[in-house]
Amino acid sequence: MIQKLEYMTGQIVATYGSDPFQMTRDVLEHIDLKAHLKPDMHIGIKPNLILNSPPENGATTHIKIAASLIDYLKTHGMDNILILEGSWVGDRTDRAYRDLGWYDLAKKYGVKIVDTKKDAYVDVTVNGNVIEIAKSVTDLDILINLPVLKGHCQTLITGALKNLKGLLSDAEKRKFHRRGLHRPIAELNVAIPQSLVIVDGICGDLDFEEGGNPVPMNRILCGGDPVLCDSYIAYSMGYEPEQIEHVKIASELGVGSMDLNVMELTELNVDRRPRGRFKAGRMVERLGKVVEEDQACSACYANLIQALARLDERVGLKSFKRNPIHIGQGYKGKTGNGLGSGICTAGFDGCVPGCPPTTREIIEFLESWLEDQG
Ligand code: SF4
Repeated sequence: MIQKLEYMTGQIVATYGSDPFQMTRDVLEHIDLKAHLKPDMHIGIKPNLILNSPPENGATTHIKIAASLIDYLKTHGMDNILILEGSWVGDRTDRAYRDLGWYDLAKKYGVKIVDTKKDAYVDVTVNGNVIEIAKSVTDLDILINLPVLKGHCQTLITGALKNLKGLLSDAEKRKFHRRGLHRPIAELNVAIPQSLVIVDGICGDLDFEEGGNPVPMNRILCGGDPVLCDSYIAYSMGYEPEQIEHVKIASELGVGSMDLNVMELTELNVDRRPRGRFKAGRMVERLGKVVEEDQACSACYANLIQALARLDERVGLKSFKRNPIHIGQGYKGKTGNGLGSGICTAGFDGCVPGCPPTTREIIEFLESWLEDQG
C-alpha cells in the first residue's frame, strides 16, 4: 500500500540552476526525506519516458534527477528500489531504457527496472470504473514521481497526475482516450497515491508532450500533493488551474488541493532563478482548429499535430479549414467523405493507415492530397 508523505502536503520546494544532480540533492536534503523513510520500504521511481528521446528535446525526465535520487536513497540505507515506466502506445519502453541510459543506471546502483508494458496487471475499481494497472505498483510502499513540466496537445499541461498513465497497460491507455482522458486520469490518481513528486522543469516543451521545442526553465519543483504540483505548473505556464480539466476533477475527487493561496512555497538557490515567466505557446490550439478529434490516443493526435505544424510552415493550412482531418477511436466503423488519420478512420475516403501513423506518413499523405487538389 503506497503511503503519502503527509508532511509535504501544501508544500512546494523549488530550486534553480542547470545541474539536475545537485539540484535534486539540494531538494532532498532540504525536505529531509530520509527521516520519513524506513530501510525495508519498497520504493518505486516513475520517470517520464513517453518515447525514446533525449531529455534535451523537452519530453523525457533527465536521468541525473533519478541518479541523484537513487544515490540519496542508497546512501541512507534504502535498498528496495524499483524504476517503472511504460512508453506511450506505439513506442517501446525498452528502447528508451536502453538508449537513454536507464538500464545502465539500474545496473550501476543495483536497482530493479520494469517495463510496465510487459508487467502483469491487476484491476482496481474507482467510482465503478475498472482500471488495469501494472502489478508491480501493488508491491510499493512509496512512489516517487518524476514528471516533466511540459505542455500537452489534449490536456494543455502534463505533470504529476498524467505521468501515472505510464503505469497502465496499453489497452487501458487506449480505453482512457475512449473515456475522454480527463476523468480517467483523475480516477487513476485515486487508485494510485503518490508519496512525493519531483518535477523536472529543466527544459520541457510547452506545446508538445513528445518534445521538439524545449524551453529552458532551469528549475526543479518538489511537493507531496500532485494536484497542487500540477496547479502550480498550470499557473507557471499562464493557465488558471481550473482550466485544466483533469486537475479540476482530481481536486473534486479529493486527490489534492488546487488552492495556490494556501501553498507554502520555498525557493532554494534564488540567485539562480531565471528572469521572467515562461508561457505555453498556444500553437497546438491553433493547429487543432483543422482537426475533428473524437477519442484519439495521445501518440496519434501528437503525430498529426506535428505533421500539421510542418505543413503550416511549408504551405499553410487553409485547405484543411474546409476539409478538416478526422482522428480518434470514435470514428471506428464510421464512413465519411473527408480526410482521416489513423486506422480508426479507415471508413473515410482519404485515410492515412497505421496505429498510430507516423508524422512522416501523415505529411506524405496530406501533401499528396494537396497536390491532387491542384
Ligand atoms: S488509429 Fe485509433 S487506436 Fe490507433 S492510435 Fe490512432 S486513435 Fe488510437
